Amino acid sequence: MVVTIDTHSGFCAGVTGAIRRAENELQQTGQLYCLGDIVHNGQEVQRLERLGLETIDYDDLRTIHHARVLLRAHGEPPSTYWIARQNDNTIIDGTCPVVKRLQERIAETYNAHKHDEQRAQIVIFGKRGHAEVIGLQGQTNNTAIVIEKPEEAETLDFSRPIYLFSQTTKSVEGFRQLVERIQLKIKNYELRINNDKLKIPFEYYDTICRAVANRVEQLKQFAAEQDVVLFVGGTKSSNAAVLFGHCKEANPQTFFLAGPDDLTEEMKATCRQANKVGICGATSTPLWLMEKVADKVKGEN
Ligand code: SF4
Repeated sequence: MVVTIDTHSGFCAGVTGAIRRAENELQQTGQLYCLGDIVHNGQEVQRLERLGLETIDYDDLRTIHHARVLLRAHGEPPSTYWIARQNDNTIIDGTCPVVKRLQERIAETYNAHKHDEQRAQIVIFGKRGHAEVIGLQGQTNNTAIVIEKPEEAETLDFSRPIYLFSQTTKSVEGFRQLVERIQLKIKNYELRINNDKLKIPFEYYDTICRAVANRVEQLKQFAAEQDVVLFVGGTKSSNAAVLFGHCKEANPQTFFLAGPDDLTEEMKATCRQANKVGICGATSTPLWLMEKVADKVKGEN
């Protein structure tokens, strides 16, 4: 049996950067707070907690003083920085540079149009309640409209300007469909008003991170080449759920597991009958965890 770990799986640059910052801080001080899980992978969080990282929530942030607080790659709304400053906490900003730039673009657009008579709509194609989306909405004083699926485009007001952005991890195809729907709706509105000069502004920015978007095709190809696929991911990670779905589609013999301890008898038996076993994971899956799964599979053989 040949066991292969997918070279495209594992942390993206943004998550790697935030973890490096945490490790550097912990090396120097042995203690660091992180606002929310640094990565949606319980095993990696536990590893860092053993080094001194303590995960806190927003209520904790309001009560701690003179501490060092890491912000994870997803980014935060301006209110988080404000709360931290109130209590003399030092922010260690692990926001991914790509997310940071997106936040700035949204803030620039919001500030440029917030007093417009036409009442422009800033729209974010993203998952409601996701940390990154909360950070993006915060750039607009929480006035941005969040749309999860292209079909939700119907909820927009097509008589008003629309500025559309995307959460970095949404699907490129979904974004394309959303743009098409909005374009069509605006066109219909303009025709209905029957005013040749009427032109409703619609600007859209594909701000999807290709570090993740490109993974789908790479992962599908990897999965299709294996007899059995073991997908390693955190149960809380939405990225893991989506990528697992793609793997399963490319190869029905795909199993989901959080780590080596989840290797069931059924998985072991299926692997034993296979020539090629592929190990892959989400953007939040550490390489060391995939290696542990690979070692266990080899040990069972
Ligand atoms: S997916 Fe892209 S934008 Fe999001 S944290 Fe990773 S590198 Fe940054």
